[in-house]
Amino acid sequence: MEGAEIRVMVVTPHPDDAEIGAGGTIASWVRQGHEVIYVVCTNGDKGSSDPNMTSERLAQIRQQEQREAAKILGVSEVIFLGYPDGVLEDTPAFRGELVRLIRKHHPDVVMTTDPYRRYLWHRDHRITGRVTLDAIFPYARDHLSYPEHIAEGLAPHKVKEIYLWGSDEPDTYIDISETFDIKLAALSCHASQVGQHAEILKQRIKERASTMGQSQGVPLAEAFRRLEISY
Ligand SMILES: [Zn+2]
Repeated sequence: MEGAEIRVMVVTPHPDDAEIGAGGTIASWVRQGHEVIYVVCTNGDKGSSDPNMTSERLAQIRQQEQREAAKILGVSEVIFLGYPDGVLEDTPAFRGELVRLIRKHHPDVVMTTDPYRRYLWHRDHRITGRVTLDAIFPYARDHLSYPEHIAEGLAPHKVKEIYLWGSDEPDTYIDISETFDIKLAALSCHASQVGQHAEILKQRIKERASTMGQSQGVPLAEAFRRLEISY
């Protein structure tokens, strides 16, 4: 994405998914002068194996971790929708929240998780990806959908491109050799998640980035399924 400034909206199911799936690409795009904002759908309040942890405390911790990780990547704004972890549903209300944010921030590019990854895939990932795609097309485009947004002064908006991470069938590879260390630093902010497994996780992420990079002749890459929308 060389050239003029592009507005990117990253819709992530949980705090940490965006860093794992796309952190190197996000850091790289910010370095190129593009603007990136986050929409964090759930508060991640189930992601702990500590028997003494409460959902309330975990949600607070993870919000702070997400803010720090986003800051390291250069993300300019983080919007928390605050749904509880694991109970996300495909509802008109959730879809409407995403439509409203798309109309408000008018991103050229939206990144989210691929909802069509087969077999084991977190339910929140499946639903976030699917509802985000629906919100982009056709709902954000059509002024008769969620007309209350139009009444409050927001215009319909056409997103141009979508990047899906976690795809079974990636077709687009972004060179993250220059920003891989920033990705790892951002990932380290999620201490409640990476904790004592940090080194193993980092090793696994490096191996994956290396495999993706090899197919493209670069040291390290992230892989996406990319959709271009013609209206
Ligand atoms: Zn997740």
